[in-house]
Amino acid sequence: MKEQVSEKKTEGMAHCPVEKKCGGCSQLFLPYDKQLAKKQRWVEGLLSDFCKIEPILGMKDPLHYRNKVNATFAYTKDKKIISGIYQEGTHRVVPVDSCMIEDERADAIIRTIRGLLPSFRIKTYDEDTGYGLLRHVMVRVGKKSGQIMVVLVLSSPILPSKNNFVKALRKEHPEITTVILNVNDKKTTMVLGERNITLYGPGFIEDTLGGLTFRISPGSFYQVNSVQTERLYATAIDFAALTGKETILDAYCGIGTIGLFAASKAAHVIGVELNGAAVADARINAKRNRIDNAEFFVGDAGDFCRMLTGSTMVPEVVFMDPPRSGSSETFMRSVITMAPKRIVYISCNPQTLARDLKYLTSKGQYTVKRCVPVDMFPATEHVESIALLQRMSNTRSKEITLDVDMEDYHRIKSEGR
Ligand code: SAH
Repeated sequence: MKEQVSEKKTEGMAHCPVEKKCGGCSQLFLPYDKQLAKKQRWVEGLLSDFCKIEPILGMKDPLHYRNKVNATFAYTKDKKIISGIYQEGTHRVVPVDSCMIEDERADAIIRTIRGLLPSFRIKTYDEDTGYGLLRHVMVRVGKKSGQIMVVLVLSSPILPSKNNFVKALRKEHPEITTVILNVNDKKTTMVLGERNITLYGPGFIEDTLGGLTFRISPGSFYQVNSVQTERLYATAIDFAALTGKETILDAYCGIGTIGLFAASKAAHVIGVELNGAAVADARINAKRNRIDNAEFFVGDAGDFCRMLTGSTMVPEVVFMDPPRSGSSETFMRSVITMAPKRIVYISCNPQTLARDLKYLTSKGQYTVKRCVPVDMFPATEHVESIALLQRMSNTRSKEITLDVDMEDYHRIKSEGR
């Protein structure tokens, strides 16, 4: 979205003192209606060759929507502790006390943790020397449930005086429902390590979306904008035009949200997801909501789908919601072989969406019927889109070879990462 826009800063959606250094809210300087228009044009530029782009679904109240906040800690030259985020492309921490798009309760908790560190003699971790204990804090807020998870990401499993630390934190913030110690002892840019130790509460939070309750573990993906997620899923399910008779595939399913949303309108739901913890959540979420026509599998969506092509569990509708890098050739090839009547593609990157739609429509079996952008990330340069693909004929082809420009495919794939 590298467009030149001449609006003055004072006309923008909001003002943030670290807007330039942080870089996360690159569109904050624009009024919200202009941001929406710009995203609409961006998606149109990439996708209108496939179909007419419907008007973007924006937010009524586009501030403080993020339900997940990560903070990194560092010392200033005069030994004061700061918390915030890494300046884009660097290891320098930009101090952020309160952010225009983050949940305000989460920001307050992070400020309190920062204030507690000296009296508990907790040293912040230094990425270069590997010295120090506290690497990050992640806070997740159930926007509807009000439940709050605090994850302390430490370089070691031992937090001295951990009970007193949790007590002091909860004294300031009784709204916290669980505290987790996550061990990240590797030299990595990933926030979370693999091991979680629950210090307080159940070790997860629950939140409700569209009348269903979802369990969210520290490492599971959960859409960061809960208000827009309900609209995103409702629109995706509307696009699928389910009759109640279909077997549906929820590929890249995370904790099972889309499949479980659709389960009451389908005969059978199959979900697949790479992250084992998320699949465990998805299975519990099915039980928790008394949904007995959904099953979830751990694995690569492409491998799983290739296996499905040889089975009797062939879906009539496929929902696919891959990460920013888009889907894989194996997955899309297998989907075309299975020939579902509809494919609903939910994407957080219109560039990889355009690439994948080109692939999926390249042999003439599928055509893009509808496409709508959804503003899941106000003030940032990101935009979500939903595209509906419909099968052209009723004949299922068994052998399909696709002659898409694979060089183009791999180039965009690496850019999308
Ligand atoms: N549909 C879910 C999750 C979408 S995010 C929701 O709306 O919440 C994309 C998900 O794809 C993540 O959970 C990620 O773990 C998963 N993923 C990434 N690569 C994958 C792959 N190759 N196969 C299956 N799942 C994958």
